[in-house]
Amino acid sequence: MYNKEIESLSIEELRSLQSERLQEMLQRQYNNVPFYKKQFDEAGIDIKKIKRIEDIHQLPFTKKTDLRDNYPYRLSAVPEEEFARIHASSGTTGKPTVVTYTKKDLDTFAEVVARSLYAAGARPGMKIHNAYGYGLFTGGLGVHIGAEKLGMAVIPVSGGMTERQLMILQDFKPDVITCTPSYAQTLAERCKQSGIDTAQLQVKYAVLGAEPWTEAVRQDIEKGLNVKASNIYGLSEIIGPGVSQEDVDEQGTGSYVWEDHFYPEIVDKDTKEPLPYGEEGVLVFTTLTKEAMPFCRYWTNDICTLNYDPNGKRTHVKMGKIKGRADDMLIIRGVNLFHTQVESVLTDFERLAPQYQLVVENNGRMDTVLVKVEKEEAFQKDYNALSDARKTELDEELGKKLVKKIKDNVGLTMKVEVVNFGDIPRSQGGKLSRILDLRKK
Ligand code: ADP
Repeated sequence: MYNKEIESLSIEELRSLQSERLQEMLQRQYNNVPFYKKQFDEAGIDIKKIKRIEDIHQLPFTKKTDLRDNYPYRLSAVPEEEFARIHASSGTTGKPTVVTYTKKDLDTFAEVVARSLYAAGARPGMKIHNAYGYGLFTGGLGVHIGAEKLGMAVIPVSGGMTERQLMILQDFKPDVITCTPSYAQTLAERCKQSGIDTAQLQVKYAVLGAEPWTEAVRQDIEKGLNVKASNIYGLSEIIGPGVSQEDVDEQGTGSYVWEDHFYPEIVDKDTKEPLPYGEEGVLVFTTLTKEAMPFCRYWTNDICTLNYDPNGKRTHVKMGKIKGRADDMLIIRGVNLFHTQVESVLTDFERLAPQYQLVVENNGRMDTVLVKVEKEEAFQKDYNALSDARKTELDEELGKKLVKKIKDNVGLTMKVEVVNFGDIPRSQGGKLSRILDLRKK
């Protein structure tokens, strides 16, 4: 463990630390941010009465729109002279959401990323290939400062320019790589195409996040890059990457939330009521220590579960894989659908690659989903040698099996088109969208 004392606090110790920090955070908000003062006063909340972290559900949520309405700095709780860093998340439409940090916030950021990298297998003295984007996005610089704190040598490659990434992977001999899972797939594929024997590379661990991914993609990457891959999760508003991290020896059991800094809750997406651990809902975070931009019950829109793992190395709660963002959820003929549900079934199809796209349309009567999924590369070679009639037969056979599997698992009948290897768009460095929604056009 990177910080054994904190990572093994008992639940009671954690709750007491969280309660104390919550009080301080609420004071910072109330005394320094007019928006929160007004919000608490109007709701008739006396923050001095919120003494225990368990009482947090009495407080209002904060949403992304609050950041937009207070653009750029009006949710900051310190004078601008105390800012030590300013980041912003992409914001697909309109202005980006801006987040600010003090020097102490950057120390916290480095601390949680250092813990995360350690849990992912990284150790002092190792080299890390950082292919997260540098710039306003928190990924690149966030991982950078955490890796330095851990005592690693950082190779600040940033995203994109895949040929150069391959050269660095071979020549600079990193032990760890970090990027989005979809970009790790691109790198694995390009290594193969360039005849690079990944068994000869020094890289052993991949720390992947910033977008949802499933076991199907993990298997693809672990095989393709010859690494052990673990999940890193975060969002700019809460700090950036390093809000939670999966331990590389506990793959598939969830990612530890660094509870001494970020208090997580799961709430019902419609009623907004808190849900017990184990139930699926929207993830909500309260930042317990952040100075420049503290958040109370920030609505992430990410759907997952929280669970304590009695067999885990650490005491902090684990969050399950993110199914998707509530606003990315498709509602198809009354059934809720996340693209990761389709991705999950692809593990059972050796001849298919986890490279796919969901095309959503409306045929005038109802919404339809077409799953375009690629053939696996090796299978594609055998396939190319077949007669046209046999090709059609195989595509149909695979398609039929997949339609059934999806129907059994997701409860929806979708059309499936098995396309050729290389036909689905790849990540060029950052997050990749798996959904093409033509209904909006
Ligand atoms: P943007 O809103 O511009 O994408 P961020 O870079 O802050 O801003 O992205 C944060 C979001 O990215 C999270 O709320 C979540 O939806 C997604 N995300 C980050 N890490 C993961 C992960 N490991 N698994 C799934 N989704 C993730």
